[in-house]
Amino acid sequence: MIILGGGASGCMCALATECKDVCIIDRQNKIGKKILVTGNGRCNITNRNCSDDKYNTSIEKYLERFSSFDTLRFFSNLGLESFFDSEGRAYPLSNSAKSVVNVIENALTKKHVCIRHEEEIQELSKQGQLYIVRTDKNEYACEKLVIATGGSGGEVMLNSLGISFLPFIPSLCSLKADVARGIANVRVSDVKVTAFSSHGVKKSEVGEVLFRENGLSGIVIFNLSCIFARERLFHGEIVIDLLPNVSEKHLFEKLAFRRKLDLPVNKFFDGIFVRELGWEILRRCKINENRTSEQLADTEISSLAKAIKHLDFAVKGYGENNQVCSGGVKLSELDENLQHKQMKNLYFCGEICDVDGECGGYNLQWAWTSGYIVGSAIR
Ligand SMILES: Cc1cc2nc3c(=O)[nH]c(=O)nc-3n(C[C@H](O)[C@H](O)[C@H](O)COP(=O)(O)OP(=O)(O)OC[C@H]3O[C@@H](n4cnc5c(N)ncnc54)[C@H](O)[C@@H]3O)c2cc1C
Repeated sequence: MIILGGGASGCMCALATECKDVCIIDRQNKIGKKILVTGNGRCNITNRNCSDDKYNTSIEKYLERFSSFDTLRFFSNLGLESFFDSEGRAYPLSNSAKSVVNVIENALTKKHVCIRHEEEIQELSKQGQLYIVRTDKNEYACEKLVIATGGSGGEVMLNSLGISFLPFIPSLCSLKADVARGIANVRVSDVKVTAFSSHGVKKSEVGEVLFRENGLSGIVIFNLSCIFARERLFHGEIVIDLLPNVSEKHLFEKLAFRRKLDLPVNKFFDGIFVRELGWEILRRCKINENRTSEQLADTEISSLAKAIKHLDFAVKGYGENNQVCSGGVKLSELDENLQHKQMKNLYFCGEICDVDGECGGYNLQWAWTSGYIVGSAIR
C-alpha cells in the first residue's frame, strides 16, 4: 500500500492500517511539516464541538466512526497528553505542535512504515490492477493507493488519473478589501462581523478583526472567508458592528451626551476607540476634524452611530496564508470507506476531499477521521 502525502491524514492512515507493507511518499524532508505550523505552532488537534455545522458538507457518519474523543484517545495511546481550552479546542499538554509530530514519528518508526522523503510525485496512472506512481526520482507500483496530498498538491494527481473534482480555492484566509491606510494594523475585539456573499449568503461571527493595508484579517475573517470560497467567488461585503452590545439608538444617545466633553472632533472618540479608528469613522461620515464636539449636529451624531454599527468593506478577493483549500473530490464519489466508487483500491483522505471546516481544530479532525477510516479499511 502506498500513501501519497505524509501530512496529518496520510500519517494517521499509515498508523491505523493493519497492512504490513506501507510506504509514505512526501516531497518534504520530514513528515507532518504542516502540523508544525498549525495553531500558531501549538497544534489545535481537534475540538470537542465537532459537528456537521462546522463543515461545508455532512461528515457526521464519518465522525461517528472516529470522533474528536477517539482522536485524543488514539494519541493518548501513542503517549500524547492533551487538554481542552475553554472553547473546546484541544492542544497537546506541551503546547507545542512538535509533540504531536514526535509521537507520530515514534509510532511510524515502531510500525516500520517506510517513508520516502524529498520525492515529488509527478504523475499517477493505472496498469491493469496496479497503480503506478511516478516521482522525480522513482517509479512505484501498488495495488492499493491512498491520496493524502492535501488541497494544494492534489490537482496534478487527480488530473493524471482522470478523477473529477471541484477545483481548489483558498479558504480560511484573510480577505482583500480597500482599508484606509490610517487604520492599517489596528485591531478591534468583540466586534460582530457579518459577511454577505454576492449570492446572498449571510454569516455572522463575533471576535477580533485586524485591519491590514490591503484587507481584513483575524480568526473571525478567516472563518467567514469560507462562505466566499464555497461559492468560488470572492466578491461580497463585510460589515463590522464595532459595538454589538449597544443598540444604535442607545449609541446615538451616548454620543449626543459626549458632545458635552467639548473636545476637538478628532479626539471625540478617545476613550472608546483608538484614535486612528475614530478618525476613520469621522472620515467616513465626512465630518471635518477642525471643529469641536459641541458643534456636532444631531444628524452628524446619527451618521456616526450608523458608521460605528455598520463599518462596511467591499470584498475584492482572497488574501494570503490560507489555512485550507475549499474543493476536492466530492464525498458522493467515494464509498463509506472513502474509496473511489469507480476506481477500486483508490482511497482519499484529508483535504483532498471536498471537506473544509472552520478554524478551531475542525480541519485536523477531518484529517484524523478520514485517515483513520481509510487506514482501517485497508488490510
Ligand atoms: C498555518 C496553518 C495553520 C493551521 N492550523 C490548524 C489548526 O490549528 N487546527 C486545524 O484543525 N487545522 C489547521 N490547519 C489546517 C490543517 O493543517 C489541514 O487541514 C491539514 O493539515 C490537512 O491534512 P492533509 O493530510 O490533508 O494535508 P497536509 O497536511 O497538507 O499534507 C499533505 C502532504 O502531502 C505532501 N505533498 C503534496 N503534494 C505532493 C507532491 N506532489 N509530491 C510529494 N508530496 C506531496 C505535502 O508535502 C504534505 O506533507 C492549519 C493550516 C495552516 C496552513
